[in-house]
Parts: sequence; structure tokens; C-alpha cells
Amino acid sequence: MARLDYVCAMRPVLDYRTLRAIIREARKIWPQLNREQFRAVTLNQLAALSSDLRIHLQATPYRGPEGMALRGFYVDKTPEALKHPLIYLNTAHHPGAVSTTFVHEIGHHVTAKVTGHAGDGVHYYFNGALRRHLAEPAELAADVIVSLAAYPEPLARRIFATPRDWGFIAGADRIPDPAFARTREHVRELCGFDFGASLPPGQCFHYLTGMIHYAKLRWALLAEYEL
Ligand SMILES: [Zn+2]
Repeated sequence: MARLDYVCAMRPVLDYRTLRAIIREARKIWPQLNREQFRAVTLNQLAALSSDLRIHLQATPYRGPEGMALRGFYVDKTPEALKHPLIYLNTAHHPGAVSTTFVHEIGHHVTAKVTGHAGDGVHYYFNGALRRHLAEPAELAADVIVSLAAYPEPLARRIFATPRDWGFIAGADRIPDPAFARTREHVRELCGFDFGASLPPGQCFHYLTGMIHYAKLRWALLAEYEL
């Protein structure tokens, strides 16, 4: 994932018009999306927001080695089974990871409104599945919302500033060292991850993968879509 060119990966999966429509829809919930910094909020605030949106939120810990693989899921409402959409958040994770998962699941909610359907069944968010998100339009769209929330445009331009002459062919493969350092600092400030001994190694690795994934996605959005 660290080497993969995210512009090449994204381009065939998510077109610009759909992306703009999804962002417009998301701004009905977060008007400052991609303009101002999204702040991690408390579970109570997430619950209040969900209830405003008529989404059923379930936030409980699901521990154990297998349980920790699951970050959460989204299920759209169905006439037969569910009166309201459902978001589950595994609160055994670090609060910064829980907030990220919440924004991702809300991303499914707004994408479902734009495309008219959320896709079939349950959208699981597993720790190890971020690479697969790149190939699935619904997952990628949900991750785009996370990236824009975590790195509003003015910040993204500062972090991923590259010399002009690099920019004529858009690409986002290996994050340059200065950008990586700024990203890490930003994630520490925003989510409270320090990737040190305070996290079990497995968790540390998954959160680091997540950091790289969302940063590269953000870089690709800037390089390819000027967002
Ligand atoms: Zn998902």
C-alpha cells in the first residue's frame, strides 16, 4: 500500500461527478467538510448525530483477537428487515479509530443516498481490508469522506505540497519523507495515535496502515481531482 499509486487505483473506480455529488450530500451533515478540520467527538455526540439522521447507532466493545479485526459496519434500511439504517461501532478500538470508523460508515449512508442503494447486505469494515476498499466503489467513496474530513483542503495542500515540476503527471505513490512526517504529526494531534508502546503491536500496525491509506487517498484526491 505504501508503494501503490493511488491515483491509478482510484481513477477507474470513482468518477469525478459521482464524487462531487457524494461530497455535496455529505455537506448536508458536515457543512465544513474539506474546508475546516473535523474534530474527533465523543460517543454521545456521535449518538446524537445518528439520531438526527434517523440512523440506529450501536456502539459496544467487541474484544478478543478476532473481535478486534472488526471496526464496525453499516446496513442500509430494507422494507422487509430494517426500518432505519444501522451503524455498528466496535468501541474496543482506540477512540480515534472509532471516530474514523463512524465517518466511514456515514460515508456509506451519504453514498447510498446519492447512488440510490447502499449495495447488498452488510458493509463490514475490517482492519485488514483497506487495500480491498480501493477496488470497491462504495467502500472507496466512504473512505474519501474520511480523508476529506481528516485533511481539509488547506491542510492537504500544506502537507502534500510538492515542487511544481513534479505535478504535471498526477500520481500518488510513495509519500515523500517530509509529507510523511507532517502526516504523522497531524494524526497524532487529531486522533491521539503515537504508534508507540501504548498500543499492542498488531493494532499499531493496522492503525499505521490506516494512516498511510487515508493520507495517500487524500494526496490522490488533491493530485487527480484538485479537491
Ligand atoms: Zn465500508
